[in-house]
Amino acid sequence: MPMSRADAAGLVGATFVGLSQDLNHLAKGTYDADAHNLCIAYVEYFDGSNLLLFAYSDSSKMNKTMKGFYEIPPSNKYGDHFGLSSMQAAHTEAKLLNYILNAFPSVGPKTVTHVTLATARDPCTSCTKVIAAYLVMHPGKLTVHGFSAQTGGGVPDLSGTPYG
Ligand SMILES: [Zn+2]
Repeated sequence: MPMSRADAAGLVGATFVGLSQDLNHLAKGTYDADAHNLCIAYVEYFDGSNLLLFAYSDSSKMNKTMKGFYEIPPSNKYGDHFGLSSMQAAHTEAKLLNYILNAFPSVGPKTVTHVTLATARDPCTSCTKVIAAYLVMHPGKLTVHGFSAQTGGGVPDLSGTPYG
């Protein structure tokens, strides 16, 4: 079952606040997380199991542990399904959907049956096209919850209008 908008808000909000605090600590108080995006993919499989994947738009201040958790391998390493420039392919939503299309088999227990994206910021024009293209390939199998998170006050604003 796709992740609900309320659950997506809780997950991406809490993760974004924790992540920006960690990055601020590593950057000695100078990091501006509000200039970047966090996107989380909730991937559901045919066998009923699921997986959470995390992507963040700037790993430059991350330590090794954080990179292991938040870095999705570059999509072009596996092939780009959306005809994107390298800049566009680096966006969190594009990275996750390219990775999902490349990483999981098309038949068998680990076939992806649904993906929910919880993205701290509403998808940009380029990622909106990527989302539409994914839905052409897999009709009805993608739900996107976009928000308009800010971390400045320590509490993200998740009042953005529902996407899609
Ligand atoms: Zn984007």
